[in-house]
Amino acid sequence: MAGFSSVKGEVITFDDVVIVPGKSPVEPKDVELSSRVTKSIWVSIPLVSSPMDTVTEWRMALILARLGAVGVIHRNMSIEEQVGQVERVKSSPPSPWFEVAKSTPGEPVSQLLFRMAEAGVGAAVIFEGSAYRGVYVAAGPRSEFWLRKAEAVAALTTAIKPIPTIDEEGRPRVGAAVSPFDVERAKALEKAGVDFLVTDVAHLHNVNALRALRELSKQVSVDIVAGNLGTKEAVLDVVSVVEDVGGLRVGIASGSICTTGEVTGASMPTLTAVINAYEALKELGAENRIPIIADGGVRNAGDAAKAIIAGASSVMVGRMLAGTEESPGQLVSVGGRLYKQYRGMASRGAIEKRHAGDRYGGRSKLIEEGVEGLVPYRGSAAEVLLEFAAGLQAALGYAGASTIKEAWSARLARITAAGLREIKPHDVVLG
Ligand code: 5GP
Repeated sequence: MAGFSSVKGEVITFDDVVIVPGKSPVEPKDVELSSRVTKSIWVSIPLVSSPMDTVTEWRMALILARLGAVGVIHRNMSIEEQVGQVERVKSSPPSPWFEVAKSTPGEPVSQLLFRMAEAGVGAAVIFEGSAYRGVYVAAGPRSEFWLRKAEAVAALTTAIKPIPTIDEEGRPRVGAAVSPFDVERAKALEKAGVDFLVTDVAHLHNVNALRALRELSKQVSVDIVAGNLGTKEAVLDVVSVVEDVGGLRVGIASGSICTTGEVTGASMPTLTAVINAYEALKELGAENRIPIIADGGVRNAGDAAKAIIAGASSVMVGRMLAGTEESPGQLVSVGGRLYKQYRGMASRGAIEKRHAGDRYGGRSKLIEEGVEGLVPYRGSAAEVLLEFAAGLQAALGYAGASTIKEAWSARLARITAAGLREIKPHDVVLG
């Protein structure tokens, strides 16, 4: 029991806490969501898509950058392919309404959709005569349902007015995942114009991985986000070992497709990982310098707000975006309903693919730590993102914060099991 007697504190997760309502200085729609993903990269919506092969390739990264968030291209492909993905984002126009997809008066929708598919864009502005109608159409299955969804997106876009995430030359920003051992890939990505790198290691707090990361950080000059990390000690080690770390990716085993906690018993839920990381940064006086990305298990804007109040600057999501048109997952129909494939990067399918394409994909572990599944198809990522932004504004409004930084001073409080039951719809028959 020696190990147990040394356990300190307890770990908590999103459902263990609520946001304590605070005096709000502004209306929710005026809450300012701009934040940093790395030391030098700002976004207007603090959301980062996960580097997973069923979540982020160039189409996802592009729509997110166009609407004010940012994507991280996964590394389950050859260096050349990943470089090509980055170049595709960097060479695309940053406007959410790509010129080529602007419909002309009287143009049949089928023709517009064809041009959009050709240009690889999922969004268009519809004009009636010369009047802007603000209607958004996405590539993908077409139906009345789709057009109605499109109109909802247009309404949200008009309300939120996203500012694209662009570099100094006006090009969309994009991140890419690397192994800390893969200097060749990191250098090739930097040369291709990637804006930041994110290490993709389930447990970075490992002497070999940290040593490799230190070497890697000397070889490239773009920001490197280090992860994944779960404890205060891990953050202190990273910051002392890696000179000038660009950001921290925290959370271990909270992902929706993750089985690490079940298979190995090890876990640091994302909310606690953020609390730990923020504590470490505060101790170093670096909480305003090094941003924290909360990664894993973020289901909605409420979870994101809790992570931000705990000290995160942004959240990384997989499942939230996996069901969208712009994710690379396969669209499948089951019993008349549409789904997209979503799988963990340590699931059997993803590991097999990595083995085939990446010489650094050699296995340091002999078990799978992720599952493969399906998530409901949700239409364009634009809708998910803009709903997320509106939800986050509302949540921070309740917290009494008008900016992300102010949210760090807002409060979370524990909720009991009875309380958790009560805050969900109850005692009604749901229609
Ligand atoms: P989600 O947003 O779906 O809840 O979580 C996504 C996160 O889960 C990713 O950003 C990554 O940190 C983590 N993840 C992705 N694939 C796997 C996997 O196969 N196993 C584990 N343990 N975590 C994974």
